[in-house]
Amino acid sequence: MERNKERSWAEPYKIKMVEPVRMISREEREEAIKEAGYNTFLLKSRDVYIDLLTDSGTSAMSDRQWAGMMMGDEAYAGSKNFYHLEETIQKYYGYDYVVPTHQGRGAEHIISQLLIDEGDFIPGNMYFTTTKLHQELAGGTFVDVIIDEAHDPENEHPFKADVDLIKLENLIKEKGAERIPYVSIATSVNMAGGQPISLSNLKKVRELTNKYEIPIIHDMTRVAENAYFIKQREEGYEDTPVKDIVREICSLTDGATMSAKKDALVNIGGFLALNDEELFRKAQNMVVIYEGLHTYGGMAGRDMEALSIGITESVDEDHIRARVGQVQYLGEKLIDMGVPVVRPIGSHGVFLNAKKILPHLSQDELPAQTLAAELYVDAGIRSMERGVVSAGRDPETGEHNYPELELVRLTIPRRVYTQAHMDVVAESVEAVYYQREDITGLEFDYEPEYLRFFQSRFKKR
Ligand SMILES: *Cc1c(COP(=O)(O)O)cnc(C)c1O
Repeated sequence: MERNKERSWAEPYKIKMVEPVRMISREEREEAIKEAGYNTFLLKSRDVYIDLLTDSGTSAMSDRQWAGMMMGDEAYAGSKNFYHLEETIQKYYGYDYVVPTHQGRGAEHIISQLLIDEGDFIPGNMYFTTTKLHQELAGGTFVDVIIDEAHDPENEHPFKADVDLIKLENLIKEKGAERIPYVSIATSVNMAGGQPISLSNLKKVRELTNKYEIPIIHDMTRVAENAYFIKQREEGYEDTPVKDIVREICSLTDGATMSAKKDALVNIGGFLALNDEELFRKAQNMVVIYEGLHTYGGMAGRDMEALSIGITESVDEDHIRARVGQVQYLGEKLIDMGVPVVRPIGSHGVFLNAKKILPHLSQDELPAQTLAAELYVDAGIRSMERGVVSAGRDPETGEHNYPELELVRLTIPRRVYTQAHMDVVAESVEAVYYQREDITGLEFDYEPEYLRFFQSRFKKR
């Protein structure tokens, strides 16, 4: 007889090594967050119980990756691990040429300096902090051409990272194709809440950019997660392996920057991948100035080996289902508890809608920054602000940028926590949610010039 009941699910791995964590007392947490200037980036890791600051470089590596670390060829030039990495990138992502970098922003720096001239415009499906800054430092201006739905945290559009083709074409017509060095397309858009772009939309972006002879540079940091959503949601891809979807996405673009610290399951690493040989030669020359020789680019041989293996594991069906599935589990739990979150739940984290949770705070009272600090005090859970603090200031006017979204990101590291940790997190968010009316805002105490969210300090208003 068929059993009708839905069966339980478990992580597709077993634990071979453990790292103890501890929760310090509430008084100690209050002291710690005050000392950190109410900025979760400035907390000490040892004072954190469950660390959901970021999914960047926080993955647990597999036994195979650790075995790969022992096969590091630490030759200064021509390490065998570089050639393995190059082969792996060609096989899984399909790009022809590879320039290794120490992490994603190293690749962003090189591509921005090579392609952007003073006064250029770079359209993209929502900004990312380091990407946009490198575009600006090269003399360019980022222009957001994502669909409007992406700015509405409650809109259930299945592909909120899609490009608004009318916005894009209008920009090209207004500025002229010669002022647009490339279109910047991110998969699984971080700042929109980990939302995917559809293949049908990407194909249309490709057609349009072909018409104007504008290249597409792909921020492929979370391409496998995006591919998993395509498999779940896009007609015609239900039975396509995630690794084939990843290849197809990459095939529609001309090059990519990668922070391997996310999807690719390593603690450090990145690369720039290109199809144009001449551009590759220039990038290869530039990498020696800023990162290291073109066969290591800031990574050790062992890092490159772990990365090659990580890329292979990142497109494994069991892995990606469990990875995104764990995030969905936490998100759905919070939705059931009535907590306002960005919908649909993203691929790498759950984004709390701080504007809605703390409606009594104006954006100048930094609602998302405040909520992140409160969550830490409640149960030692570390999250991150994605709101006015992250958005920085307008370089022209010096005023704060006021983004529509004021979010707190609970980012889930890959293969690190269990479902039981997710339950603890959900209960803490619920507890803070029920005390929300008593929460007062923050103001800046110290503000650095670049990427201020990392190092700013705040005080209670
Ligand atoms: C993390 C990230 C980057 C920057 O990469 P780093 O490895 O942190 O330098 C770029 N784009 C996106 C979407 C990212 O998430």
